[in-house]
Amino acid sequence: MFQQLTALPADPLLGIAVAYRQDDNPKKVDLGVGVYKTEEGNTPILTSVKKSLQILLDSEESKSYIQARGNQAFLDGMEKLVLGADNPLLSSNRVESVQAPGGTGSLKLGFELIKRGNPNAKIWVSGPTWANHNALIKSTGLASEEYPYYDKVNNQLRADEMLEAFAKLGKDDVVLLHGCCHNPTGEDIPADLWPKIADLAVENGFTPFIDIAYQGFGTDLETDVQGVRHLLSKVPEALIATSCSKNFGLYRERTGLITTISESPVAAGIALTHVLNIAREIYSMPPSYGGATVGILLGDEALTTEWKTELAEMCARMRSLRALLVDKLHARDVDQSFDFINRQNGMFTFLGITPEQVQAIRDEYSIYMAGSSRINIAGISNSNVDYIADAVAAVLK
Ligand code: PLP
Repeated sequence: MFQQLTALPADPLLGIAVAYRQDDNPKKVDLGVGVYKTEEGNTPILTSVKKSLQILLDSEESKSYIQARGNQAFLDGMEKLVLGADNPLLSSNRVESVQAPGGTGSLKLGFELIKRGNPNAKIWVSGPTWANHNALIKSTGLASEEYPYYDKVNNQLRADEMLEAFAKLGKDDVVLLHGCCHNPTGEDIPADLWPKIADLAVENGFTPFIDIAYQGFGTDLETDVQGVRHLLSKVPEALIATSCSKNFGLYRERTGLITTISESPVAAGIALTHVLNIAREIYSMPPSYGGATVGILLGDEALTTEWKTELAEMCARMRSLRALLVDKLHARDVDQSFDFINRQNGMFTFLGITPEQVQAIRDEYSIYMAGSSRINIAGISNSNVDYIADAVAAVLK
């Protein structure tokens, strides 16, 4: 059976990670895979998370399965975090959540649910979007198309074109929106556009599917989801895939949840049975550790305060690295402005250089980034920023 298969090319981004590891240049820099890093290049376990994990280890008495929908304290805590503790939706009985393996697993459950609800649904993704969105939609067998999002030439949002595209959508359409810290561009939907998107969704009947993988990495936990909360307060139906990989630093624990907002409590209950059934068909129950850890953390005021401080520190560091990179690039008399990097949010930006220039930087400087020129801001440090700016300036001359 396996003789019939032909080998697939390595995932481009994971391929970059392998090439980086094999490079013996002591000055090498990894701006590829999207994990947070400290000045020293480490991805540490947050202290608040470690303390929560210790409480879990000390109190856990069984390795029997957890309930199919996951850890209830986790689900309650995360719904409050995303929607806001006083959101009337929380007491409406229209909201149901199921723990899933990471943001990826949550997205997969969401797409499969859409397919059951409407096999003719088309998923609209931002141009560009996180590459795995396309893979997940394709694997589910749903149709997809891009809506205009980022103008790579002028480094800005294609706001008018995006709204024009949304104005043409209808009941068979699902619009996948990045809640904040858009991956790969860093360019977010500004506060004043969310109400316009909400109006279009209500008028035309398309369904928003929000992907939140970076809450707290843009400005802060509340500001980052203001637009999303407004949209969700207006529409009858929506889906939210939330990842705890980045803001809780739980990457390998595969922690996330899929949340459905339905038109009525009855519809919400039915949707839940389908999400649980889909999960059962793929992996049965979610892994326990990540959800249980976040459940403990969010249920404890002191640990939550400590986590918020750690998250704010990561966010502030990425902001200052953006400013530092822009200053260093401008100090090298490059022709173009890189000010857009300061306006953007989260872990990523496109440098706006060609694939050939990306390759030249890799060959000559051992600086690794995606072919699209997407860089992980957290891969920059005070000790490598001059080296990076030198390399970018050199290929632009
Ligand atoms: N959505 C976006 C936009 C992402 O960038 C990521 C991770 O990089 C995810 C979802 C899923 O993250 P995970 O499956 O690691 O929780």
